[in-house]
Amino acid sequence: KEQYDLIIVGAGPIGLACAIEAKRNNLSYLLIEKGALTNSLYNYPLYMTFFSTAERLEIGEIPFSCISPKPGRQEALEYYRNIHKYFNFNLHLYEEVLDIHKTEVLNFDVKTSKNTYSSKNIVIATGFYDIPNLMHIEGEDLPKVHHYYKEAHPYSFQNVVVVGANNSSVDAALECYRKGANVTMVIRGSEFTHRLKYWVRPDIENRISEGSITAYFNSNVKQIEENSVTIETPNETISIENDTVLALTGYHPNFNFLQKSGIIINDDALKTPTYNPETMETNVDGLYLAGVVCGGMSTNLWFIENSRVHATQIITAILAKQKNFN
Ligand code: FAD
Repeated sequence: KEQYDLIIVGAGPIGLACAIEAKRNNLSYLLIEKGALTNSLYNYPLYMTFFSTAERLEIGEIPFSCISPKPGRQEALEYYRNIHKYFNFNLHLYEEVLDIHKTEVLNFDVKTSKNTYSSKNIVIATGFYDIPNLMHIEGEDLPKVHHYYKEAHPYSFQNVVVVGANNSSVDAALECYRKGANVTMVIRGSEFTHRLKYWVRPDIENRISEGSITAYFNSNVKQIEENSVTIETPNETISIENDTVLALTGYHPNFNFLQKSGIIINDDALKTPTYNPETMETNVDGLYLAGVVCGGMSTNLWFIENSRVHATQIITAILAKQKNFN
C-alpha cells in the first residue's frame, strides 16, 4: 500500500491550495479528485462571471492575470490548470474516494474507486456542488427538470420555469430571457436573497416590473408534468404551460461521506460539521476539513477568497503535530 503524510480529497481550488502548502513543506502527499481538475468550476454555467476579483481567487500567492477585474469560468479553469502545470502535483484525476477508515493513531486507510492507500493525515476538501437540494415534488425526476444550468441556447423560444431566489437562479433567468425564452420565476420567500450581486439586482427587478420576466413570490412549485407546471401562489394554485424547469435550489455537502469518515455533524438546521476553527481538524484526530464543505448547509458562508487560508492552517497544524510526535 502506498503510504503518505497527507491525502487530500478533492482537487477544487482549496484542495489545490492544500497541495501547494504540502509540497512547499516537503510532506509526501496525494491529491485525489473524482472528476476533472476543479470539477465544480468545470460544471458552472459556461458564461458565468465570478463575484470575486481575480486576486481573491489566487492560491499559493501565484498571480491570476486577468484583463477584466472579475474573471469568468474559462479564465478560472485556465488559472487552476496553470497552477497544476507549475507545481506538477501528485494528482490522481477520475478516482473517487469511497471510504476513509482510521486504523490507528496517525494512520488512515483510504479506499478509492481504483486503489487503497495509507496516510497519516487526511484533508477533506470535497465542496458542496455534487448534490442538489431537491424539491421533493411529483415530476421532479422528469428529464426536462435540471438542477444545473449551463447555457441559455437550448431554452430559447421555450417556456422556462426557474426555481430559486439566489444568484444562480437570477443569472439563469436573465440569460434565458435575453436568448428568447419565456421565463417564469418561482420564489419561495418574499424577495431575492440579500446576497444578490448588487449590479444584477436592478436588472432583474426592472425586467419583472416591466413584465418581461414573470415572478411569483411566496410561491412553490407543486407538481411538474410533461407540458405544464403547477404553482401554488399566495392567492391561488395555477397551472402554466412549460417545457423546461431549472430547479436552482442550491446544493449541499455529502453528509453521509463526512459521517462515515467519523465526523460529527451538528444536529441543527445548518448541519455544520465539527472542526476546530484554528487548525481545521475535525473530532477525528488527523482528519481535517478545508474549503466550502465546512459550512454544512450554509453554502454561502465559505468561498474561495475566505477559505484558501485553510491550507496554511492545516499544514501548520500537521507540521506542529509531527514535531511533537517525533
Ligand atoms: P470545490 O471547488 O467544490 O471542490 C471540491 C472537489 O472535490 C470537486 O472537484 C469534487 O469533484 C471533488 N470531490 C467531491 N467528492 C469527492 C470524492 N469522494 N472523491 C474525490 N473527489 C471528490 N467563490 C468565490 O470565492 N468567488 C466567486 O466568485 C464564486 N462564484 C461562484 C459561482 C457559482 C456559480 C458557484 C456554484 C460557486 C461560486 N463560488 C465562488 C463558490 C466556489 O465554488 C467555491 O468557493 C469553490 O468551488 C470552493 O472550492 P472548494 O475547493 O472548497 O470546493
